[in-house]
Amino acid sequence: MWWSGDEWEALLDPGQCGMCRDAHLAENEHSVLIVSTPTSHLRLARNQAHAGYCLVILREHVTDMGRLPSEQLHAFWTDVQRAGRAVESVYAPRKIDYLVMGHRMPHLHCHVFPQHHQDDPKRNVDISDGPVTLAPGELKDAVHALGRAWSTTATGATVRSGGYIPPRAEQ
Ligand SMILES: [Zn+2]
Repeated sequence: MWWSGDEWEALLDPGQCGMCRDAHLAENEHSVLIVSTPTSHLRLARNQAHAGYCLVILREHVTDMGRLPSEQLHAFWTDVQRAGRAVESVYAPRKIDYLVMGHRMPHLHCHVFPQHHQDDPKRNVDISDGPVTLAPGELKDAVHALGRAWSTTATGATVRSGGYIPPRAEQ
């Protein structure tokens, strides 16, 4: 059964939107800020059951991709692609899934969701796998590694970062 009219109206209301409230913060309950662009915020999920799981969150409260002007749409997906490249360079996953949902949080965002060697490709994607929580130092290292990788992918090149071994990554 879908949300009631009142429930859905509340979710669509920017004044009550959790992402409007905390997507720009250095840290919130769900994630840690890696970098912000004029269009979006790139955040590392606290749940690292899928190592490298990030979110790209549109700055603006737009509730459906269909409502984005083409320039903003392009900028958003460019940020998503760049985020995927950063995750690729740090974590070397087998595949990255890009998920745009929003039936519980209708503020446009994309889950950048890596699939690794140990993940079963025949299972449906479940962003609530885990949770796996990193130690504060590991979380900080991951944010820095992704931030560095983000910077090196500015021109579109895919560059392997050196020296950083992500927790739980397959070797
Ligand atoms: Zn919002």
